[in-house]
Amino acid sequence: MKIVSTVSEVREIVKEWKKSGLTIGLVPTMGYLHEGHASLIRRASKENDRVIVSDFVNPTQFAPTEDLESYPRDIERDAKVCEQEGADVIFHPTTEEMYFPNATTFVNMTGPSEELCGKSRPIHFRGVCTVVSKLFNIASPDKAYFGQKDAQQLAVIKRMVRDLNFDIEIIGCPIVREADGLARSSRNVYLSKDERQAALILHKALEEGRKMVLCGETSASVIKKSISDIIESEPLAKIDYVEIVSFPDVEKVEDIDGDILAAVAVYIGKTRLIDNFITENGKEI
Ligand code: AMP
Repeated sequence: MKIVSTVSEVREIVKEWKKSGLTIGLVPTMGYLHEGHASLIRRASKENDRVIVSDFVNPTQFAPTEDLESYPRDIERDAKVCEQEGADVIFHPTTEEMYFPNATTFVNMTGPSEELCGKSRPIHFRGVCTVVSKLFNIASPDKAYFGQKDAQQLAVIKRMVRDLNFDIEIIGCPIVREADGLARSSRNVYLSKDERQAALILHKALEEGRKMVLCGETSASVIKKSISDIIESEPLAKIDYVEIVSFPDVEKVEDIDGDILAAVAVYIGKTRLIDNFITENGKEI
């Protein structure tokens, strides 16, 4: 496995692979890899001849008030995870390599990027769409892998690929959790012992909501209220949003009908965590 830091190195490698008719899977990440990322890399290794993992904390998706500087980084540990899971190349560029200092072109989306995290983090998806487009252009993958942990991001990327005619198959992968239900996240390292315990409330509340949908409750507001009440019972938790939207269109719904995404963003102390569930026609996926 190789760690490369320039666009031209990736392009050179990809050119050789393509000459030999090899298929390429791309796994975009911001590094500090955990079992959630590992599951994506594993799946990409199974389904492609070669796998590129990008490992880049993308500044354009962070607002100035957010945790860009403190975001955890550990490329050596990431390299071990990638090697173990069968990646061939890690693309680990500097910000200067990824962005020209006077770059003025960005990918802006309306629709699926505007609800949920798009409301709390107004520039977030512009940064995500821009960096993912650049990675698609650099790595020319056949398939790219994204986790349902960031379900809105998955919906946004699928829409972008359709709208901009990227010839890439987007594969959504299930949420990987800790044994006690907490969704794996690089940001979990920010949590103190008490906060780590308090953070379980996200999964607990969503499980209750999911049960309500599976038992036939069709009112989104009733389900949202139940989820919110459970989260509010935890003194360390502060709700950013609790929403139910259609999936993958990410439009607000009043009645549960068709495929829905129930998503929450909650501050546990200073750490903002997200989690969700998706049901298809009121059934589990
Ligand atoms: P990040 O490094 O947080 O930008 O995540 C990179 C990719 O890994 C995204 O597609 C995430 O959705 C995915 N991912 C992160 N955490 C998990 C998880 N717990 N389960 C599944 N996929 C995940």
